[in-house]
Amino acid sequence: MLDVHNISVEFGGLKAVSDFSMQVRQGSIHALIGPNGAGKSTVFNCISRFYTPNQGSVKFLGEELLALNASEMASRGIARSFQNLELFAELSALDNVLLGTHAQHQGTAIGPLARLKRLLSPPDKAATAFAESLLERVGLADQRHVLAKDMNFGHQKLLELARAMAIRPRLLLLDEPAAGLRNREIESLDRILKEMVSRDGMTVLLVEHVMQLVMSISDDITVLAFGKKIAEGAPKDIATNPLVIEAYLGT
Ligand code: ADP
Ligand code: MG
Repeated sequence: MLDVHNISVEFGGLKAVSDFSMQVRQGSIHALIGPNGAGKSTVFNCISRFYTPNQGSVKFLGEELLALNASEMASRGIARSFQNLELFAELSALDNVLLGTHAQHQGTAIGPLARLKRLLSPPDKAATAFAESLLERVGLADQRHVLAKDMNFGHQKLLELARAMAIRPRLLLLDEPAAGLRNREIESLDRILKEMVSRDGMTVLLVEHVMQLVMSISDDITVLAFGKKIAEGAPKDIATNPLVIEAYLGT
């Protein structure tokens, strides 16, 4: 589904990522891991079109993503969540998710008009019901009228996940979704992500440090160290790979 081919990224002469390739299979959960500074966020930002690599290509279902802007990504069914939360603090959980559904119209000719119309009129019943169902999926149904700023950190992260799902993405890109979450919240995240893949046919690519989650949910794992891919495979193979163990112990 996603084909990252030979990308390299330089920052002022420093090679952050060198000749990196990876393929994400449709319907899989794929984790990108590696020690601090390995280049994970840089790769993630190339895929989500925040950075443009110095060389290489990133194809989604055969289409070159590097030619698209961020809003065109949404119209292709690609959603991302941010490591630093980007919620609307003064809006309720429900309104945050409802606003997420607007991204569906971005990048199309009717985009700005549809957006304006939605903002000026009360949301229709179907959109509200859909947004409520997403809040229920992430366990926040009882908090739909709570302002984002009044929710605890774990709930804000789950709210961001619900908002990303509002565009009904085919591919969901997550940057450290478990960072700062407690064990119980990580367990719900585990269950929610697995359900999104099995029930909604979504594909998930995540950068993650919490190994408990990575090992439990991933079908495939790619390991980066010093800007290069050092290993790739199923969780059980990655966990016992000497190169991977060395990369983690060496930092
Ligand atoms: P990771 O996410 O695996 O911790 P990053 O992709 O953030 O690693 O960083 C990889 C390398 O690139 C690091 O050496 C980092 O200092 C450098 N780097 C990342 N982003 C920038 C930037 N915008 N400008 C300069 N150097 C950067
Ligand atoms: Mg990072």
